[in-house]
Amino acid sequence: MPVEPVQLLDPEIFIPSTESAAKREFWVRLLSWIDDGDELALVGPNSLEGLHELADQRPDESVISQNDFWTILQKLVPRTFYPAQDQRSICERHVRTDYSSALGHGENLERLIKDIQATGDQPQVALRTLEDCWNWQSRDCQDCVRSRLHKLTAPPGHSTALNAMAKVWRSACMDDQDAGLKAIQAFSQEMFPNLHFSDSAWKHLNRLSGSPSDNFSSLTHHLGVLNDHAPRVWAENVTTRRRQAEMQGLGVPASPDSPQTHKNSKAMQRRDFQFGQVMVRCEWHTKLRPDTNRIYFAVLDSGVYIGTIVDHLPT
Ligand SMILES: [Zn+2]
Repeated sequence: MPVEPVQLLDPEIFIPSTESAAKREFWVRLLSWIDDGDELALVGPNSLEGLHELADQRPDESVISQNDFWTILQKLVPRTFYPAQDQRSICERHVRTDYSSALGHGENLERLIKDIQATGDQPQVALRTLEDCWNWQSRDCQDCVRSRLHKLTAPPGHSTALNAMAKVWRSACMDDQDAGLKAIQAFSQEMFPNLHFSDSAWKHLNRLSGSPSDNFSSLTHHLGVLNDHAPRVWAENVTTRRRQAEMQGLGVPASPDSPQTHKNSKAMQRRDFQFGQVMVRCEWHTKLRPDTNRIYFAVLDSGVYIGTIVDHLPT
């Protein structure tokens, strides 16, 4: 099974420079970042020291209330972790050239580098960081790719943060293709948070033709496009032809059933799927391969519904 990605909190978010510690702006921002519900980003071992220093120099009550200050420490201290034994290799050179502090402490870059290294070599790292800290150059660097470091800049709780995290989960699953299609099923909520899967969505996985590794990549890609784009594509385009063209442009051939199939009521009933108490007809399908392997789905106002993943349904 894939290794769960590590979510790491950039020290820039919680260790201020002496100047910023006196600014309300810094603390308001920090409060918004640590109130993240289930999206628990960890505090690296090297940043913990910074938190200790902070506790010794609590800013004036006019900057942040005593209550808020202790709430911040109470939320951050339990998130610390021990350094992993196998140090992660990162592209230190590019982190150094691309990163600069905004309101944070001058040592935050060193802390950040060591914290990333301390996450160990196995998991993908989702770094919860600030847009302003990075010089967003596109880099053609293998060391950057190998470091498997994803920068997530959307504030927690925001839907774009959830979708960005979903992409990290997909990469984590790609790391472990041996886990096979069952891993996609097991982590479907993490990888595709906007999709609803029917009670029988995964029942026919073993009927897919072709090699498991091909099916793994194409299934991840197709479900990813349905998760990331289908609601927008459906909202922006009314006609079947335009929806098809947009999906095709995203590398996912898709179509609704033919008029012929529509005339066959028995066949159409096979497109009705149970989602808990709700029945949804899923007649659109993406084509993992031209001749076989289909994802039957429906896009409604309430979301994207995946009826089944199967070689084909009778027409
Ligand atoms: Zn690099």
